[in-house]
Amino acid sequence: MSHAAAPVLAIHGGAGVIKRDMSPAREKAARAALTLALQNGYAQLKAGKSAVDAVAAAITVLEDDPNFNAGRGAVFTHDGKNELDAAIMDGYSLKAGAIAGVHRVKNPIVLARAVMDRSNHVMLMGEGAEAFAKEVGGIDMVDPSYFRTEERWQQLQKALKEDAEKKPHADVETAKHFGTVGAVALDSQGRLAAGTSTGGMTDKRWGRVGDSPIIGAGTYANSGCAVSGTGWGEFYIRTVAAHEICMRVTQMRVPLKRAAAEVINQEIPSMGGNGGAIALDANGTVSMPFNTDGMFRGWIGADGVPHVAIYGDEDDGTADPLPTPDAGT
Ligand code: ASP
Repeated sequence: MSHAAAPVLAIHGGAGVIKRDMSPAREKAARAALTLALQNGYAQLKAGKSAVDAVAAAITVLEDDPNFNAGRGAVFTHDGKNELDAAIMDGYSLKAGAIAGVHRVKNPIVLARAVMDRSNHVMLMGEGAEAFAKEVGGIDMVDPSYFRTEERWQQLQKALKEDAEKKPHADVETAKHFGTVGAVALDSQGRLAAGTSTGGMTDKRWGRVGDSPIIGAGTYANSGCAVSGTGWGEFYIRTVAAHEICMRVTQMRVPLKRAAAEVINQEIPSMGGNGGAIALDANGTVSMPFNTDGMFRGWIGADGVPHVAIYGDEDDGTADPLPTPDAGT
């Protein structure tokens, strides 16, 4: 099934309203983090490690960076907590692991991977997930205050004020860049993997879980396609977005870029949602569509050079024209 391949890794750090008014310091820090994540993940691939290893390595860097809404720097719930979700899927074995609503796990992607590798389950939530983390060992636990950043706290205060003024909730959600992180990788044996990690959406309530940890919605990989999404999670769940892209690729033989564009640029916005995704196929084709102003994104391939982009009008090196439907792949 597997074959020798040139390894490829693509990552995202969230899609949303990302305008060129970002502070130069913030922009520089975000680009540096994306570059480091690409380098760390790609080093795994170059060392002959699996796509799953590369995805976990890249995501761990972004979880540790406070600029992204995953791990440290996660957004706050309505009650002023950080509740973290993550998932990882191995496209070769079709195994997957996911966690939702954890408060003390430093790197949620590492725990998601432990669920995949070391439990008989796919998804664990809340206290149970944290009990599992302690039981399996080797998972760094932190005080919940570790995740807090002042910027995210202020975002919650603004959202609460808008709630109180009865402004439509969606205003808050779409006015922020979401900042979820994700990665997709193809290893030297031709195996694909996908992973996603997030704090969810600012002001979320009642134990809300988004698409990121739901296999098929925000995260999916099989033998021919790997996808990690970012955006307004409810729409990614309703369109089963990541699985939908992969089914178009592997079952309907739609070229990757077209399949990703159909779901991200047509289906999700037609329902009122927004966001983006990164997608990778078994040939190493990278697609990074989004229907928002921008998406923190990057990829690295055969030449080992990290390509990083943020804004919508910025060339990320994947923008060759969509193939016409009858032009094959
Ligand atoms: N999709 C995530 C969620 O709904 C948020 C994001 O991508 O920023 O939880």
